[in-house]
Amino acid sequence: MSRSYRILPIFALLGSSVLALAQVPEYARDPHQAVDEAYTAAIRKYTTAPEFNSPLTDYLPASKNVPTPAKVLGDVSGAPGILPYAEDVYKYFRELAAASPRVRVVSIGHTEEGREMIAVAVADESLLAHQKENDERLAKLADPRTLDMDDAKAAPLIAASTPVYYITGTIHSPETGAPTALMELAYRLAVDDSPYIQYVRSHVITLITPVVEVDGRDRMVDIYRWHKAHPNDTYPHLLYWGHYVAHDNNRDAMTMNLALTRNVLNTYIGWHAQVLHDLHESVPFLYDNTVGDEPYNSWIDPILTDEWQMLGWSNVQAMTKLNMPGVFTHGDFDTWSPGYLMFLAAMHNGISRLYETFGNGGADTVERVLTPDEYARTWYRPNPPLPKVLWSQRNNNNYEQTALLTTLSYFAQNGKLFLNNYYLKSKRSILKPAENGPAAYVLTADDPSPSRQAMLLRVLHDQHIEVQQTAAPVTVELPQPAKSSDTEKDDDDAKSGKPKPPTSRTFPAGSYVIRMDQPYSRIADALLDRQFWSPEDPQKHPYDDTGWSLGPLFGVDTARILDTAILKTPMHLVADPTAPSQSASLSGDTFLVENHADPSLIALRYQFEHATITATDNGMTAGGHNYPAGTWIVRGVSASDLEKAAAPLHLHVAAASDVPSVASHPVPTPRIAVMHTWLDTQPEGWWRLALDNLHIPYIYISTQTVAAESDLHAKYDVILFAPVGRSSQLILSGIPMWGNAMPWQKSDITPNLGGIDSTSDIRPGLGETGLAHLRDFIQRGGLFIASQDAAQFAIDSGLAPGVSVAPPGELKVVGTILNTAIVTNKGTSPSPVLAGYSTAPAVYSEDGMSFNVSNLLTGDRRLRAEAKTPRPTGRGGPDDPDVPQDRSFAQPMPLPKAKPWEPMPLTVEQTRNNPYVIPEQDRPQVLLRYADSKNLLVAGLLDHSDSLAEHAAVVAAHLGNGTTLLFANNPLYRGETIGSYALVTNAILGWQPPKVVGLNQEQTIQGTASR
Ligand SMILES: [Zn+2]
Repeated sequence: MSRSYRILPIFALLGSSVLALAQVPEYARDPHQAVDEAYTAAIRKYTTAPEFNSPLTDYLPASKNVPTPAKVLGDVSGAPGILPYAEDVYKYFRELAAASPRVRVVSIGHTEEGREMIAVAVADESLLAHQKENDERLAKLADPRTLDMDDAKAAPLIAASTPVYYITGTIHSPETGAPTALMELAYRLAVDDSPYIQYVRSHVITLITPVVEVDGRDRMVDIYRWHKAHPNDTYPHLLYWGHYVAHDNNRDAMTMNLALTRNVLNTYIGWHAQVLHDLHESVPFLYDNTVGDEPYNSWIDPILTDEWQMLGWSNVQAMTKLNMPGVFTHGDFDTWSPGYLMFLAAMHNGISRLYETFGNGGADTVERVLTPDEYARTWYRPNPPLPKVLWSQRNNNNYEQTALLTTLSYFAQNGKLFLNNYYLKSKRSILKPAENGPAAYVLTADDPSPSRQAMLLRVLHDQHIEVQQTAAPVTVELPQPAKSSDTEKDDDDAKSGKPKPPTSRTFPAGSYVIRMDQPYSRIADALLDRQFWSPEDPQKHPYDDTGWSLGPLFGVDTARILDTAILKTPMHLVADPTAPSQSASLSGDTFLVENHADPSLIALRYQFEHATITATDNGMTAGGHNYPAGTWIVRGVSASDLEKAAAPLHLHVAAASDVPSVASHPVPTPRIAVMHTWLDTQPEGWWRLALDNLHIPYIYISTQTVAAESDLHAKYDVILFAPVGRSSQLILSGIPMWGNAMPWQKSDITPNLGGIDSTSDIRPGLGETGLAHLRDFIQRGGLFIASQDAAQFAIDSGLAPGVSVAPPGELKVVGTILNTAIVTNKGTSPSPVLAGYSTAPAVYSEDGMSFNVSNLLTGDRRLRAEAKTPRPTGRGGPDDPDVPQDRSFAQPMPLPKAKPWEPMPLTVEQTRNNPYVIPEQDRPQVLLRYADSKNLLVAGLLDHSDSLAEHAAVVAAHLGNGTTLLFANNPLYRGETIGSYALVTNAILGWQPPKVVGLNQEQTIQGTASR
């Protein structure tokens, strides 16, 4: 059946809805409906100029029984000085629902801190009364398999159904306007009798989550209240938005680590909505990023790109007719990454949209002065924002509501078209194997790490992706690599006798199959495929990460299968692929736990703190099974307790009656601190999330705590310092001390601050005292783990002798996934940091940071430069010696050579009387380096890779008895880098007390095992 044949009948059936266009009312107020005069007067008063309002929102219709937002707010939506807590916002919506049959409120879950999230449905009472039947129809359209993929069966459902338009507000807590705008919008939709609004509410179910980041909203309101109480003081910027992360709460739509992401997706899917429209605030006056900029995400249905153009440009046109300045839809947002909250819809057969309106970060009315690029007239912004404006929250609320009402009207007019598209996109997702492939992704049953595999399956499960499991072994054909035009390479392969790539692969029974003939195949494909961002792409400023390939990031084999034979093999749907694995029936008192760089192992260690656990130094065989080096030998815990603990972690556990005597080292339970600054708490929030998910106990301290604690060594063994996003100087100095103190703590006016950490003044940084305490902590045997700019800070502060940051040259890396290689150091046993890694992990690199190491405290730069000195002008060819005339030729000494990750060997001249030579045992040790240029890129953008290739990525530097472990990558990033988590958990468990009675000689002398 041809594609056009399949689709044609549907368009024939759409005739009626297209006709509806002509009957749609133009905007006009209902002359018979009374106006709420006081409310309307206040709207006028708080709007700073008439052009910042529209006929849709410059009045409020009156109602005898339905309360306006003023009932809860005490003034109108957008009134200066008023910023309601989520609780008050909910109170209003619930009063609205109590008063109007056109409004319904449902609870959609809770945040990490236990605050409620809600959704509010607004539509004609008849639509809400029959919402269940409507939803049953939409559910069928969402999964055309239930309709036998038959357009004729879909058509009557489309004709009978009402679409759902889901609006979400205030995910970003300092972007404060949406809740009040949405309160008033809901009132208008429920009460206004103008034909325009009536048409909307009788043709669309508008679904609203007024506050997405509820924890952050309440803290933001606290900050604003503090500001109102101290009008002349500088107020602290919002540090903790959500419990874990700030702005990145809008980057969680891939791995779904945050409650808000899961709650919104469950609501979007549960209501079978067609649109997810997220409200933000930044640029003037309204950027509808629906059209955005290139490159568009490669995995979306092309129908969606057309819908984006329709909705974006029609919205701009509607606003243009209303003469509201500064509205545009083309702009610098690319839709490459699927990490944004609204993108959940794009990846689940709906439509993603986002507004950026102009907010003041609170409810003050202030003068705003724009930059030239903000007020410039461009082809896509013929009526640009004004260079200088007095701007109010009410203005912002006017823009948000007017834009939403006009777009809801457009959506209502074209509802049947969008419902048909929704059906078609779902259907085309199911047809993916036949159209563009692949057929499936397979996660093999014999993956060495069922634990990490389960973590990836958890992501797919939360994304509502169907996961199946095979009943029998299945063999599929593998595609052969394209014939290289580089015949030289082929010749090389032939000469070296390299084996030909396999032509087929057999997966054992029990393998997980992610079929691409399912409604949500697009999100699975987007997450599991590889990404390539061309260095030649006209877009030079990627909006976010350019790569996110979850298979390599999780260190899980996710085979991309083109052979459709995989779809015909017997398999069954797995209800919950994250359910605890079948526990081995254990007995005895000694157990073996395999180590495949599973981050979950650490959960087991701290759960059985009193158990005796050692890790083997080498591989071994026991009970006929091969165990890799790093396997745990566990004693002092009961078989049933271990079984119970290991099953949900999906760890391999076996009883070992006959453990061969193998060399092993103790696995301790160090005392951990996580150090944060008061400058920014986002990247460290992802670290906390990683630790909390793994049930790792830690004390949460700030740089101020470190400054105040003279003996850190007495309290902690390991201190983690996540990336900060600030300079070393600011980490040390903190926020300037001029001006007033800025408290972050609980008080009568700030009841929501201080729950995570608190201080009477966020300004002081680590300071010289704190740095001295940190140095003392390391020197006395502590392990200090630092990543990215925190590693830079450690280097700048002398905590990592012999390590420097490699100059980037022209390198371009933007949130890219890169391959690494394990560095084996002759004469030393492998570092515990690499325990369980049979291959080097792929890592996340934000900007291409890497390290150079040196045997000199002063660095290797001069030596490296000399080693590259070209021969001088003279006799002979480029490689010939320059033989001086009139004397015999003296053969020069060979120049020192080193690989990019190695220190330059010291010359005789350097070692003579040089206090900067680092003693051999104190020289930094490179554990992981980046792969060579040819093998470096896994996913994303990589250009001019030479200055990064083969350079050090993870380095253990030594200071006194302790270790500073430096990461150029971010090993605990956005819940995505599961494959590199174990670098950190291993390092923690690899820490050894400097002097412990009863350990062998080597450990006593060596001090830290991270060497
Ligand atoms: Zn935002």
